[in-house]
Amino acid sequence: MRGLMMDYPLNLSVFLARAEKLFPAREVVTRTSDGVHRTTYADIARRTRQLASALERHGVAPGERVASFAWNTFRHLELYFAVPCSGRVLHTLNIRLFPDQIVYIVNHAEDQVIFVDDSLVPVLQTMKDHFATVKLYVVMGDGPLPETSLAPVVRYEDFLAQGDPDYDWPALDENEAAMMCYTSGTTGNPKGVLYTHRALFLHSLTQAAADVCGLSERDTVLPVVPMFHANSWGFPFTSTLVGAKQVFPGPFMTPQAVLDLLQQEKVTVAAGVPTIWIGAAPLIAQGSYDLSSIRDIYVGGSAVPASLLEAYDRLGLRIVQAWGMTETTPIGSVSRVKSSLADLPADQVLRTRAKQGLPSLVVEARVANEVGEEVAWDGVTMGELQVRGPWVISGYYNDARSPASFQDGWFRTGDVAVIDAEGYIQLVDRTKDLVKSGGEWISTVELENALMAYPKVLEAAVIAVPHARWQERPLACVVLKPGETATRDEVLDFLRPRFANWWLPDDVVFVPAIPKTSVGKFDKKVLRGEFQAYTLPEHGAHASTPDAD
Ligand code: ADP
Repeated sequence: MRGLMMDYPLNLSVFLARAEKLFPAREVVTRTSDGVHRTTYADIARRTRQLASALERHGVAPGERVASFAWNTFRHLELYFAVPCSGRVLHTLNIRLFPDQIVYIVNHAEDQVIFVDDSLVPVLQTMKDHFATVKLYVVMGDGPLPETSLAPVVRYEDFLAQGDPDYDWPALDENEAAMMCYTSGTTGNPKGVLYTHRALFLHSLTQAAADVCGLSERDTVLPVVPMFHANSWGFPFTSTLVGAKQVFPGPFMTPQAVLDLLQQEKVTVAAGVPTIWIGAAPLIAQGSYDLSSIRDIYVGGSAVPASLLEAYDRLGLRIVQAWGMTETTPIGSVSRVKSSLADLPADQVLRTRAKQGLPSLVVEARVANEVGEEVAWDGVTMGELQVRGPWVISGYYNDARSPASFQDGWFRTGDVAVIDAEGYIQLVDRTKDLVKSGGEWISTVELENALMAYPKVLEAAVIAVPHARWQERPLACVVLKPGETATRDEVLDFLRPRFANWWLPDDVVFVPAIPKTSVGKFDKKVLRGEFQAYTLPEHGAHASTPDAD
């Protein structure tokens, strides 16, 4: 029997309409080169309608892709709503991809228009001759249009002024595509993820829930996650839905600039990859920032070392770890401590927080073995993490590689994980990062977490290096804190009591910095390339098989 409820499509336009009606004066703040720009949901909503109407007048057809090549700003937020709510698809281009990858994804997505920040015009110009479908460039920023070879080109404000502020949002099916984002393509070409209105709508409702990010209109939200990285982890949509104040750092993403903004705007919720918070910790420790307004910092994208959680605890700031992927919109799990575990000894609570967490509301997770059978939730049996849920992809956009990413209706994450008896997911490694030593696996994530707990170490990445006898052995690449010195042996001695002998890295190299990916994660692919021919010492720190342990 069918129920009797309204057919009410889950469209993103509902979010903006609510913010406009209920929180018209709530601020949206953007850092600029000479201060901050302040606007409100009332203005954003009006300008968003104008922008949508201008797109229509320019003949951008429903369903066509409109791209952004931009930092986090209020104009980018306007695009976040104007493009999808008018029935088009916003393709957020990752500005840090290699030029040939950007050309590939612009052409693969068949982008019709590119909205580009002033500061990024010089980068985009170098690629423009290779774009097959782009018919218009719209340059975002203040003042006159900068000199550019992009053509045809128009200033954002002039473009917007051509639109009608009383434009009505069209009725859309909730399963229409709203946003598009390509994975950063660590192997092969990037793959396109096409989010529906429905997925983003449900993801936002969940993100606002207490056991996920608990966002409300009382919050001031600053994600230090680019708006081209998995929709800035959903924060711009969810913040608009609840009517929270939003703060955008523009191109000013350094730890110092972010800390200034966190303090000045009294931010309550921040988010970002571990590297930004590793960089910010010493600055916060100097004690010159008042960050007492912050209640939660959501950190994910790569493993959060327990030492980072502890360092922030000491600073009076709470980090909450989350796991996700571009393919999962992105929130898959959040590491909150169950009430039944909260009174355990502090080290056990910390260990729970250092796991990737419980599947978020409405996401199902399992760990599967090679033949696709779920393994026990015993905290030790490893397998591939697989997920399903209303905001998990069902395939990549126009991509023959899609079928390989699914098994019996589950999305294969490519992450190796265990699940414990309480249901907490713990990531062992990415499949491609694991060290396969003599047929056994060594988790680079665990070694890195331990290395980063050594007080002299700022950052550490462990990579597999080819080995004649064991196929691969781990090499630790370590960045010391400024002014520190250390030897290979003291670092290995620190690890020795924490790991089986055969897990110990064969060598430790001290490097000035770990290369970072386009979204600020350790770039182990680049490191592996650099150390591919590295000659490991004849006798590593250990015997190299489990048997010899
Ligand atoms: P990229 O492939 O460029 O890193 P994504 O942001 O989609 O793009 O990355 C998703 C991957 O990031 C996950 O598959 C996982 O390997 C890693 N990841 C995300 N969050 C965490 C976390 N909390 N701990 C460990 N790894 C994480």
